[in-house]
Amino acid sequence: MTRILISALLLMYVGCATAGPQQVPPEYAHIQDFVAKASAAYGMDIPRIVATDWEDRAAIRYQDRQLYVSRKTLSYSDAILEPLLAHELGHHILGHRGSVSPQDEAAANAEAVRILAKL
Ligand SMILES: [Zn+2]
Repeated sequence: MTRILISALLLMYVGCATAGPQQVPPEYAHIQDFVAKASAAYGMDIPRIVATDWEDRAAIRYQDRQLYVSRKTLSYSDAILEPLLAHELGHHILGHRGSVSPQDEAAANAEAVRILAKL
């Protein structure tokens, strides 16, 4: 009985830990804030932010409900960073999955403008 109770409490703790807000590196707080505000403006779930050390790839990339954000963006000003984030959030909002077409890119750009206008 005690073992079952301990297991139940452990599962509750693990469940709470994974259901809470995502923990991102502290230096990503401004990125998480922007993503959370944009997602809230659309009533959408927040894509998971994944910190990367990519130097040779796109600084920010959206794929499969995850927003990959290179540490090199930490030196970007908001004027550069927010449009890039908004474009990738556009893919999220529009439900783009897998490889995207030039039309998808154009739609993500248009959605980025709407996101930036809402915030
Ligand atoms: Zn894109």
